[in-house]
Amino acid sequence: MPSKPRNRLGEVYGQLTVLRASERRSASGNAYWWCRCSCGREREVPSDKLSHNLARSKPVITACLQCSRELQIEAVCAKNDREERERRQAALEARAALKGLVPERWLQLPLTDAHARELGQVLFFRGTRCLRDHLAPYRINGGCQACAGQTPSAL
Ligand SMILES: [Zn+2]
Ligand SMILES: [Zn+2]
Repeated sequence: MPSKPRNRLGEVYGQLTVLRASERRSASGNAYWWCRCSCGREREVPSDKLSHNLARSKPVITACLQCSRELQIEAVCAKNDREERERRQAALEARAALKGLVPERWLQLPLTDAHARELGQVLFFRGTRCLRDHLAPYRINGGCQACAGQTPSAL
């Protein structure tokens, strides 16, 4: 006989509140619980996925399927935003070091591919060298302008 599961009724895990015990057991004998998400949907969750310990290596469940998917998408967006901010900061620093060494108008260009798209422009200048060691603006979807023969490399 599997041991009687710990009573989790009414406990809250992220967006989930434990509503009632389920008859279902996992292969290893874990109990399942029916939980209600803050959006109103219900989800059956095995007890070993209900944890307040977010630092542990096993993933925990904190929302219904739909909300979990949205939370995942948000996490990816937040990570992309952070990486883009870091890229722009790096471009600003690289360009500050190139002042006087490259045409001034390059330093007025958008900082990154995403920045150029945001501004409706096609060129950007990160202040970095391409694989062929050119220092030149890039075109979105087109790569290094010096490689493309459009602009001579500055250095
Ligand atoms: Zn939900
Ligand atoms: Zn190049």
